[in-house]
Amino acid sequence: MSEFNPGSLTATNIHLAFGANKVLRGIDLHVPQGTTASVIGPSGSGKSTLLRVMNRLIEPDQGDILLDGKSVLNDNPDELRRRIGMVFQQFNLFPHKTVLQNVSLALTKLRKMPKDQANAAALEQLDLVGLKHKADSRPGNLSGGQQQRVAIARALAMEPEVMFFDEATSALDPELVKGVLALMTDLSKGGMTMVVVTHEMGFSRNVSDTVTFMDGGVVVETGSPEELFTAPKTDRLKGFLSDVL
Ligand code: ADP
Ligand code: MG
Repeated sequence: MSEFNPGSLTATNIHLAFGANKVLRGIDLHVPQGTTASVIGPSGSGKSTLLRVMNRLIEPDQGDILLDGKSVLNDNPDELRRRIGMVFQQFNLFPHKTVLQNVSLALTKLRKMPKDQANAAALEQLDLVGLKHKADSRPGNLSGGQQQRVAIARALAMEPEVMFFDEATSALDPELVKGVLALMTDLSKGGMTMVVVTHEMGFSRNVSDTVTFMDGGVVVETGSPEELFTAPKTDRLKGFLSDVL
């Protein structure tokens, strides 16, 4: 993997309510540069909302978000979203554009790159995810796993400082999960700063540097994979692990 832009991410005391529903109730998360933080927890615990707040798709009611130690709450949200790459469960590729166009589009539109340069950069990213040979295909002709790798290439092409993954493998057929997890593992080992919301306990345990267990809008436990998986302290985490493992 190529060298990544350095970045650390910190969220402090994040609160967010949808009406009367207090979805995030004082979340702290610190992801040092070059590390991978996995976020686990039951459905509805606020994991996706936390990612959306941290890249300011939703503004927090309270709390701060820092990139490289500097608050980003007063920055232009579009600028922040260039610094944080996001990969969703649904790949959100443009079906009528080619794979190459899907990756190069943001480069010409947002980064104002000349087309030739954008295409070359996009091809390089596609090569990194093993899909250069699919550059001229439409997304619909690719497997779900390949489409997700294109979505990852698209995010990486923006040269983000941090990557967010929200259940990136949950929509994939089981036989396709491995390839995407292998790519995420490569990124992690290559020094990308990552926040990975996942149900893949193998990835959380074996790849991530820290694990954060959320339930009911709070961080119940956070620590090393060893601490959380082999010595969970709370009944809530013990219960969750016995359900998913
Ligand atoms: P998770 O990703 O852990 O499954 P979410 O962050 O998606 O949890 O959801 C947490 C809570 O926030 C849920 O109760 C959900 O219904 C609520 N929620 C999420 N998004 C919205 C929204 N846009 N408007 C209102 N409520 C929402
Ligand atoms: Mg979610």
